[in-house]
Amino acid sequence: MEFVLKTNNLVKRYGGFTALSGLNMNVPKGAIYGFIGKNGAGKTTLIRLICGLQNPTAGSFNLYGTENSDRNIAKCRKRMGAVVETPSIYLNMTAEENLKQQYLVLGLPNYDGIKELLDLVGLSDTGKKKAKNFSLGMRQRLGIAVALAGNPDFLVLDEPINGLDPQGIVEIRELILKLNREKNITFLISSHILDELSRIATHYGFIDKGFLVKEMSAEELDNACRKCIRVEITKPEALTQVLDEMGIDYKFVSDNVADIYSKPNVTQLTLSLADKGCEIISLKEQDESLESFYIGLLGGENNA
Ligand code: ATP
Repeated sequence: MEFVLKTNNLVKRYGGFTALSGLNMNVPKGAIYGFIGKNGAGKTTLIRLICGLQNPTAGSFNLYGTENSDRNIAKCRKRMGAVVETPSIYLNMTAEENLKQQYLVLGLPNYDGIKELLDLVGLSDTGKKKAKNFSLGMRQRLGIAVALAGNPDFLVLDEPINGLDPQGIVEIRELILKLNREKNITFLISSHILDELSRIATHYGFIDKGFLVKEMSAEELDNACRKCIRVEITKPEALTQVLDEMGIDYKFVSDNVADIYSKPNVTQLTLSLADKGCEIISLKEQDESLESFYIGLLGGENNA
C-alpha cells in the first residue's frame, strides 16, 4: 500500500506540556482519513507539524516518502493543501478575487483554472458578493478552493464542519466525496465527532491525549459496530455445525460464547442445537453503536 503520510513516534511539547506523545499514523493514498479525537487531543498540533507551521520536538514524519528532515520536504508540501483552524480567506474580497490572490501568492503563471475551481466548490454564481457576506459553509468551501489552488493531491482539513448548519454539512461532505472520487485527492480530516465523518471516511485514526489509540479501516469499524446476537452454549462444536449448515456468519469470542452476525431463526437454532445435545445458556442482542464504540475507545462526551 502506498502512503501519503506516515508519522514515526512523533512528539510535540509546548514547554512542559506534551501535546503529541509518540504518535504513529499512516494515511494511505486515496483515503479519506478521519482523524478523530476530543478537543485538546492533539489533532491541530499534528496538522500544524505536517504543514510545516511548527517543528516536531522528536520523532519524524514523511510525506509521499520524503522525511520531514529532507530538504525536498518543501517541494512535497506543494502537493498538499490545507485549511487549518479557520479558512484563510480575505473577507473583503469576492470568491474570484480570493483565488486570484492565492494564485499570486503561489506564483502561478496565469489565472487558468479559477473558473473550474469555483465550479468545483459550487461558488461560481457568487459574482460580486464579498466573502464577509457568505454563509459559514460558503466560506469553508472557498477555503477549500483556496487550498486547491496549485492542484494538490492531498488535502488536510481541520474540523471542516464545525459550526455549519445541516445543509452546509451535506455540501462539504459531498464536495469531499467528489474531490476524492473524481480528482483522486487524499484527505486527512480532523473532527471530534465520529458520526460526522462516518458517512465518508475510508480510514480512521483515533487520538487521545497525544497518542494514536487505534487506526482502522471503515470496514473494520463497521464490523466493530455490527449488530449481533451473543450466545453462550455448552457445546461449541454443535453451534459451529448448526450455524455452518444455516449459512450464518459468526465469531467465537471465547470457548463457549459466540457472536452471530445475522438474525437467525431462534426456534430453529434452539431445536437444532438441542438435537445435538447442546444447551443455550444465554442469548442476547448486542448493539455496539458508533457512539458507544467512540466512548469505549476515547471516553465520554464526544461533543466536548
Ligand atoms: P481542538 O479541537 O480543541 O483544536 P485538538 O485536538 O486540535 O483540539 P490541539 O489544538 O492540537 O488539540 O491541542 C492539544 C493540546 O496542546 C491542548 O491541550 C492545547 O491546549 C495544547 N496546545 C496547543 N497549542 C499550544 C501552544 N502553542 N502552547 C501551549 N499549549 C498548546
